[in-house]
Amino acid sequence: MKIVIIGGIAAGTSAVAKARRLLPDAQCIMYEKGEVVSFGSCGLPYFIGDFFNDENEMIARSIAAFEKSGVTVKTGHEVLSVDPEKKEITVKNLATGEIFTDNYDQLMIATGSTPIMPPFTNRDLKNISVVKTLSDGQKLKKYAEDEKIKDVTIIGGGSIGLEMAHAMQHQGKNVRMIQLEERLLPDAFDHEISELMADTLINAGIDLHIKETVVGFNGSVNAESVITNKGEYPTDLVIVATGVRPNTAFLKDTGIELDKNGAVIINKRGQTNLENIYSAGDCATIPHFLTDENIYVPLATGANKMGRIVGENLAGNKKEYPGSLVTSGLKILGMEAARTGLTEQQAKELNIPFKSVFIKDKNHTSYYPGQKDIYIKLIYHADTKVLLGGQIAGESDAVLRIDTLAAAIFAKMTTEDLGFLDLVYAPPFSRTWEALNVAGNVAK
Ligand SMILES: Cc1cc2nc3c(=O)[nH]c(=O)nc-3n(C[C@H](O)[C@H](O)[C@H](O)COP(=O)(O)OP(=O)(O)OC[C@H]3O[C@@H](n4cnc5c(N)ncnc54)[C@H](O)[C@@H]3O)c2cc1C
Repeated sequence: MKIVIIGGIAAGTSAVAKARRLLPDAQCIMYEKGEVVSFGSCGLPYFIGDFFNDENEMIARSIAAFEKSGVTVKTGHEVLSVDPEKKEITVKNLATGEIFTDNYDQLMIATGSTPIMPPFTNRDLKNISVVKTLSDGQKLKKYAEDEKIKDVTIIGGGSIGLEMAHAMQHQGKNVRMIQLEERLLPDAFDHEISELMADTLINAGIDLHIKETVVGFNGSVNAESVITNKGEYPTDLVIVATGVRPNTAFLKDTGIELDKNGAVIINKRGQTNLENIYSAGDCATIPHFLTDENIYVPLATGANKMGRIVGENLAGNKKEYPGSLVTSGLKILGMEAARTGLTEQQAKELNIPFKSVFIKDKNHTSYYPGQKDIYIKLIYHADTKVLLGGQIAGESDAVLRIDTLAAAIFAKMTTEDLGFLDLVYAPPFSRTWEALNVAGNVAK
């Protein structure tokens, strides 16, 4: 059995590690275009923002460790095409230029995503960057440490843009954020939490521009100003965080079914429409736990889990991924926020009869130091009261509370179940009626 994996970050490494453990005699080869494998780009904002300094900490498993486990790792090798009929791939060695073919019994596509760079005028100027690779991180950290760089413009108010605002403010920069849509993170959070996030940014001194469109940049070598439909602003550095697209262009004409945005369509086993070809991660769809629809969620959580499911199936086990709740969280300056399941907007679009509550409570008792407000939104079925979604925000102890809600949704609990769930009470952690119990009891 010969297993070939294309792409060596989250989904690819999770799959190959699992397959290797289950099939110790299989031949496993992982082709990776870049120079590192198992790299966690999620750490980049904190590396750039100087929360830590050793870039190697972002590498979960070394090439040597993969090789030791019997996986052949070919970095600096780009897969140019796939021929499912011949079960063959064409590969380019990027160092030598040599092009060769390799064959497989089972193939996994884990080629991830690339940041979208909109067609801004002068977008190739030197001080304009996306945030994705280790080299993006190294370059942006140098800019962040340069005292001459004072004004940083962030284009995009999604999670990467917000984390970069946090990072750049931590490095002492003046940060301007320009967001095209009318609020922050509109696909992930409802307006109540988006508004809390916006207040947090504004109170921390971030110059937030909502509903404004970037047109391009002025400058010759470097961007010196950002031009929008509303004005022109001086800048020393521009960070573009306007979303990602799946790396699947090389799959056209292979017969592998792709979604509208180019993501490889997979089933719950991670299998494509072609029997011996699997996919997972940012280059593929993922099934939604509640709706069973194939959705696009470029998150490491899903990439790792679906990657491991692919590993099981590559080894012949018939394992299915239960589905994603799109659980995610982030820290922006003094605030944490997290979400799981459906937002109110998504429930509306799906024509689900729903109700919602939004409460403000406290993270723990008043007499223990550090009491803070905590905000919880629940979305639940109007008739059955079964939980459909939740969002939590606050200065402290907010994000990890979402895991209880994710588990509750997974277990198909009702708001009443949540109201009486035996959650922890001890003064430094909660109040007698924990905030999640309170939210459950308020939701009628
Ligand atoms: C700044 C930042 C912060 C993030 N924070 C979080 C977070 O907090 N939580 C979270 O869950 N997710 C987060 N993410 C998302 C997470 O990093 C991705 O979901 C995850 O990396 C996806 O893994 P992947 O293996 O599918 O794809 P990728 O990480 O994109 O890796 C794909 C690999 O395939 C290689 N490749 C592509 N084409 C080819 C080819 N033709 N031949 C050979 N190799 C190829 C690429 O070089 C790349 O190394 C963050 C992402 C970024 C950029």
